[in-house]
Amino acid sequence: MKNVGIVLAAGSSTRMGGTTKKQYRVLLGHPVLFYSLKAFEQSYVSDIIIVCAEGEEEFVRKEIVDKYDIMKVSSIIPGASERSGSSFLGIKEAIRIRGREGVNVLIHDAARPLVNPELINGIISDLEFGQRAVVPAVTPSDTIRLEDGGTVTTLEREKIRQIQTPQGFEAGLIHDAYVNLKDPVTDDAEAVMKYDPSVKIAFTEGDRRNFKLTFPTDFELAECMIKKC
Ligand code: C5P
Repeated sequence: MKNVGIVLAAGSSTRMGGTTKKQYRVLLGHPVLFYSLKAFEQSYVSDIIIVCAEGEEEFVRKEIVDKYDIMKVSSIIPGASERSGSSFLGIKEAIRIRGREGVNVLIHDAARPLVNPELINGIISDLEFGQRAVVPAVTPSDTIRLEDGGTVTTLEREKIRQIQTPQGFEAGLIHDAYVNLKDPVTDDAEAVMKYDPSVKIAFTEGDRRNFKLTFPTDFELAECMIKKC
């Protein structure tokens, strides 16, 4: 079986603001994207595909892949305007290089630099033991309330899942899900849920450190976590 990592770095970082996109911002001396690539490099994936914004391929190759000797990168391709479009392009590239039979893809947000090889390998292991779709998830620590018009409801925290990446899939399944997708989705598992609700989406325990850099203060938190302060 082959397992291909797809690292999505084609976002425009609108919510983060600032002049440098968050995937290239320097976090303790290294660009954010480097951390995810390092984790995938140290995992059991056979290949890494990087999806970046059109025109940034050379920068990514020279300043990150070559500079840090990330050997498993087989393609650096331009993404799309929506995350789901970037995912789909990465999946098609994975199938182009490795085929669809006996191939899994693990799709990851470059904006989650604190992913680690153990989490990646755990997802690969679940896929190799027969799961078709695997997502890492954690339960929230805060109280979660739903405000819907005038109605406010407190949700049962134990039933809430915060979904992380990497999300792992049989390559053919996630490819077909995206072929049939009508509207953009915010994570890849949702494409499968819409395509074939009978497919079990297996949960695996996520890692609380594996959060997504979204707001400026998230950088302080990530730096502390990397330094273990
Ligand atoms: O915007 P958000 O932080 O949710 O994006 C999650 C990941 O998907 C980021 O690493 C971002 O670079 C990537 N992305 C992408 N193509 C887009 C939008 C987001 O590769 N069009």
